[in-house]
Amino acid sequence: MKTKKLKKSYCLCKKCFDKIPFDTNKVLTYCTCKAIYVDGCEYYSRIGGNKENYEFVEK
Ligand SMILES: [Zn+2]
Repeated sequence: MKTKKLKKSYCLCKKCFDKIPFDTNKVLTYCTCKAIYVDGCEYYSRIGGNKENYEFVEK
């Protein structure tokens, strides 16, 4: 099985070091400093904000 589980991945804000899971149940979720946001479910993820301010963390 080659199923990629986005659920276990995070978007890390480099400014406030908040970790937002990619699966937010379609709720637009900001980090504490509001530099980035994630809006996603198990099928897709949308990440907003400046690319320099976040990085992906695979679990
Ligand atoms: Zn932040």
